[in-house]
Amino acid sequence: MTNKKPTLIQLVTIAHHDTDAQLAKHYNVVQLKNGPEHDATIAKVRADVEVMVTSATQPTSADLIDQFPNLKAICSFGVGYDSLDVKHAQKKGIQVSNTPDVLNDCVADHAFGLLLATARRLGHADRFVRDNLWGSDQRFPLGVKVSHKKLGIVGLGRIGMAIAQRAAGFDMDIRYHNRTPRSETNLTYEPSLHALAEWADFLVIATVGGPSTRGLIDAEVLKALGPKGIIINISRGSVIDEDALVQALQEGVLGGAGLDVYENEPKVPDALKTMDNVLLAPHIASATVETRIAMAELVFSNVDAFAATGKVITPIPTL
Ligand code: NDP
Repeated sequence: MTNKKPTLIQLVTIAHHDTDAQLAKHYNVVQLKNGPEHDATIAKVRADVEVMVTSATQPTSADLIDQFPNLKAICSFGVGYDSLDVKHAQKKGIQVSNTPDVLNDCVADHAFGLLLATARRLGHADRFVRDNLWGSDQRFPLGVKVSHKKLGIVGLGRIGMAIAQRAAGFDMDIRYHNRTPRSETNLTYEPSLHALAEWADFLVIATVGGPSTRGLIDAEVLKALGPKGIIINISRGSVIDEDALVQALQEGVLGGAGLDVYENEPKVPDALKTMDNVLLAPHIASATVETRIAMAELVFSNVDAFAATGKVITPIPTL
């Protein structure tokens, strides 16, 4: 018996108990893995592939998209799309979806966790106890108070708004910088990123990645944030000039950093690993059981909706 289902090519495994059954409802599912079989797999199915499942951190280039002449939809797991050539796909009439909103809470929780942990030196404190230094003649350094302080948010989008909500609970004075002010918030808009950094005690980066924001946080912005200032980045590593960040921390131009994302993941500059005023996380802002299930379900809903109606439900706006 021939399998008449169209083909869905999966570039990433999605950790969800029901993955195979969900995707196989409408499609013949083919996994594309790196390694010796990669090219042969593409050659075998290229004409049949109508849907692609990828993720926010999986490189999905124009070249790869062009391998599949009948591709109609790309459903991505995650919200960022700097590693996916959305413009190219959209120009070819291919619909592209991501998983917005369902991860806002966890990414914002994580941003706030990094902020608290960096200001109160929790990574350092944990090492201090484990190394049996508590009770020794070494004194643990004082941290920085968070409540009632000034928080600058760079990128007040869906996640930025959720970070602002959390900051309100800590009675923080909040301002933000986007390219354009948001009409639906009373938060103070700061048109100059430099001025926002100069004003803020903490600067949280929650903007998009990609060429438009590459190196947006440069040496000047870090200097403006200052020797008591702390930067938190949960957006993309490319948004901060990483060499400038290391230098600013080494020279005491900047007070501290809490980072979830890096320029060349999974590589993290060795210099950062030696600094007790820096907290490092391995790109885990959305990585909770609940949120990863919600993200997986939204990928499946997009795939299902495309099969049923020819339209994905959370399309990335046309770039
Ligand atoms: P949104 O699109 O809702 O928000 C992005 C915000 O960034 C908008 O307010 C936008 O405002 C602003 N922005 C865009 N370009 C610039 C710029 N050049 N200068 C200043 N502000 C800018 O996205 P989300 O809130 O859903 O997600 C934000 C990012 O978070 C994602 O793109 C992703 O990279 C990252 N992320 C990271 C995760 C992690 O695991 N660490 C998990 C999930 C997301 P305007 O257009 O007015 O400039």
